[in-house]
Amino acid sequence: MEKSEAKRRIEQLRAELQEHSRRYYVDNNPVIPDFAYDALMRELEDLEAAFPEFQSPDSPTRRVGSDLDAPMGENAEGQVREGFIKRKHRYPMLSLGNTYNIGEIEEFAARAEKQLEGQPFSYCCELKFDGTAISLIYRNGKLLHALTRGDGIQGDDVTANVLEIANIPTRLHGDFPESFEIRGEILMPYRAFDALNALREDNEEPPFANPRNAASGSLKLSDPKEVAKRGLEATLYHIPAQSIPFATHDEALTKAASWGLPVSGERRLCRNIGEIKAFIDHWDTERRTLPFATDGIVIKINELAAQTALGYTAKSPRWAVAYKFQAERACTEVLGIDYQVGRTGAVTPVANLSPVQLSGTVVKRATLNNADQMALLDIRIGDHVYVEKGGEIIPKITSVELGRRPADAQPPLFPSRCPDCGTPLVRQDAKWFCPNQDGCPMQIKGRLIHFMSRKAMNILAGEATANQFYDSGLARCPADLYDIRKYQLLALEGWQEKSAQRFLDSLKASLKVPFERVLFAIGIRGIGEATARTLARRFGDIDALAAARKEQLAEVEDIGAILAGNIHDYLHDERHRQEIWRLRTHGLQFSMAEDAPGPLSAALQGQTVVVSGNFSVSRDAVKELIAAHGGKCASSVSGKTSFLLAGEKPGPEKLRKCEELGIPVLSEEAFRALLPDDSDAPEKTEAAEETQGTLF
Ligand code: NAD
Repeated sequence: MEKSEAKRRIEQLRAELQEHSRRYYVDNNPVIPDFAYDALMRELEDLEAAFPEFQSPDSPTRRVGSDLDAPMGENAEGQVREGFIKRKHRYPMLSLGNTYNIGEIEEFAARAEKQLEGQPFSYCCELKFDGTAISLIYRNGKLLHALTRGDGIQGDDVTANVLEIANIPTRLHGDFPESFEIRGEILMPYRAFDALNALREDNEEPPFANPRNAASGSLKLSDPKEVAKRGLEATLYHIPAQSIPFATHDEALTKAASWGLPVSGERRLCRNIGEIKAFIDHWDTERRTLPFATDGIVIKINELAAQTALGYTAKSPRWAVAYKFQAERACTEVLGIDYQVGRTGAVTPVANLSPVQLSGTVVKRATLNNADQMALLDIRIGDHVYVEKGGEIIPKITSVELGRRPADAQPPLFPSRCPDCGTPLVRQDAKWFCPNQDGCPMQIKGRLIHFMSRKAMNILAGEATANQFYDSGLARCPADLYDIRKYQLLALEGWQEKSAQRFLDSLKASLKVPFERVLFAIGIRGIGEATARTLARRFGDIDALAAARKEQLAEVEDIGAILAGNIHDYLHDERHRQEIWRLRTHGLQFSMAEDAPGPLSAALQGQTVVVSGNFSVSRDAVKELIAAHGGKCASSVSGKTSFLLAGEKPGPEKLRKCEELGIPVLSEEAFRALLPDDSDAPEKTEAAEETQGTLF
């Protein structure tokens, strides 16, 4: 290759890798498979080796990909918040050299033997957990700081979030050292991943591509309480030698496990390459039985003296290497692209594929998410594409085989009009929407299906019934369902006395469904189950909710300006008011039940509290107590903060900000003194009493 051409390609590869790295680590939304990323990295390494004059300390070959959060911005889930505090790592957090080629593992072992010249050593083989790296600093047996890898030099301080992870011990036991650091991975087990994605799909939010992205996105949420619900787990695999100099890596991990830390037991000491290969072969199939994702095997030199002798490169230790398993993927043809209209009007492109076997199932369709994703993939009908099961669960198109593209293949045009009703589409964020809420059949049917679904009103009817109701003109909106009579059902095809009665009974039972689920059922864009619950508890009834100004709504936990706008606009639209009025007349619940757990007192009414540090009870319990006394929790100190509730070791940044803004700092004891002694007697919520008349 000519020098000038090499220079151009090197620059191009660096720019591409940096962009993919940002999408992977910061957005948690990679657009190419790891294998393709690693191939680009390898090409760059080879070119830099062949043309050393173009080497640069800034090259992605020399630096770890950075997950550092912007100082102020949106996280992967669209929540706007202040960035995390950055802290310097005591010892750099590096990456690992990796390969998909067993020959290179043989070379690694041969090199180690040669360089260690007869010095006795062994290998510790471990699973390569596919999550996001974490560094934990323990002092006096308590977690002091938890930092992400960041750029390897400094990381984001996610301590409050890590404290919510169930298997992170709050206190160590046994003969733990006074101060030490341990590193590992935060994972989302498949079961939690499935549940999270099901919830996101219900709420028409894009699902996470794989458990790794879900874990790293969840770790960067602004509200630790939300993190607690995500089912994350930690597994720890490394004590830096500078932190505690054990004779061997294996001994360090055994000790850490004895202090109560979650250390993986699936490791084996191997004496030679044969034993390493046997371990790899075993886990290449056996890993499918694990409840979490792994993407390879890590092989580490076990003896600390040998590790020190081998040392480090700028990016990774020379005493360890990762053998990566190829993700299961298949190549197939794109037969067509459908544009599906959801209940909120969102238009989602879905590729129809020539059926192909993948991880034991036949894949025929794969989502393309949105127009941006289609453009990034540069996908065309007739293309051959690679389909991967992200985390071996959801089929995803990861790349296009450009060499097999038919000569006449044209880029697909994202429709400018609704494929169902022909209305011109409008764009909100990355999605295109059909604004014809009242006339678009797909939206109307989608809303009926959502309203009747199990998590909403739990009415015994599915998609086919919704279509039948729509087509026969029997129901075009949820309120119509409650006007349906038995003789009308019996006149429809396939209905009999028994099925009609069952349907009508479930309609009747739905009148008892609590307000929070009714609020979810009416289908305000972006309001999922959890947000509906928060809103119902905060406002008490639909009138108070409708009377709230956008700014008041935006103050509620996890509701940003966009959601506040959606709620406000929805409840001020005359058609929706009519619909709610009709549902109310039918007897649906539009206020919290009298016997729903109400606030314990109004002692903290109107107060915004920031909680920081460790308390005599869990932080969740402290936050619940604040809410039960009418207060609201916020994650960062601002001019709106009423006081900082500081437990043991509160965040120094929060304390500094309080001092700067003159905001009081209360100890746990002083806080408890604010609450009435007799906190057990529930009172009626003041939020509900704020209601200015009935709006519906
Ligand atoms: P890596 O994930 O290949 O390996 C290093 C990491 O492995 C460590 O940081 C640690 O978090 C983890 N790990 C898991 N189990 C371990 C164990 N038992 N011992 C030690 N470490 C263990 O490297 P990386 O630097 O985190 O990421 C680079 C890789 O990420 C690339 O090789 C690529 O596959 C992927 N990537 C993909 C894209 C994309 O667009 N698809 C973009 C950037 C990076």
